[in-house]
Amino acid sequence: MSDSPRVATRLFPTLLPTVDPPTGPPPPWFIDGVKFECTACGKCCKVQGDVWLSPNEVECAARYLSLSPESFLATWGEEERRGWILLKSRTFSPAQGGGEGCVFLSDDLKCSIYDARPLQCRTYPYWPRIMHSRETWEAEKVVREGEEGEGRRWDPVEGGCEGIEHAEAGMVDFNKVRQQLLLQIGYNRALPGDFLP
Ligand code: SF4
Ligand code: SF4
Repeated sequence: MSDSPRVATRLFPTLLPTVDPPTGPPPPWFIDGVKFECTACGKCCKVQGDVWLSPNEVECAARYLSLSPESFLATWGEEERRGWILLKSRTFSPAQGGGEGCVFLSDDLKCSIYDARPLQCRTYPYWPRIMHSRETWEAEKVVREGEEGEGRRWDPVEGGCEGIEHAEAGMVDFNKVRQQLLLQIGYNRALPGDFLP
């Protein structure tokens, strides 16, 4: 006699499970990836907010600029706490769109330490508060510069990202999103709580 499960179930129907099989947590809302492509607009570097570099990131950025960590702090740091450095900000002329931005944002809105930029810059927009739900993801989306249409417009207080779900954006797969999100969660845990405004 065959001992396949199918036959066993037919012969012994009372052995069928009477309760639903246990289920795990539902998959994250971004299990199929997200539609995102950075337009290099520089807006995430112009939004009001702090950019803290961890001690390792300070060392990395200082080396990139051929400076000692002490010189890096003196030139680019607003303040230092326990080895972490808060970057200064800079102002932009009306011709450059006005407002303030990170001190490393150049006149043409490019990061001048791109290869040594800190983790929080690398992981945006895959931050926990943004990836919390589809709603928070969509709330971060702003209308792309020069495009018409409904939707939120970027401003320096509320911020927002025009790379999210714009018409030409490709898909970023789940593993890449998850990796970036986990990195940012680790960074948030490492950042001392009293640094936050
Ligand atoms: S706001 Fe978004 S699209 Fe613009 S530079 Fe930052 S990540 Fe890229
Ligand atoms: S370090 Fe570079 S990427 Fe990060 S906020 Fe400043 S200009 Fe933007």
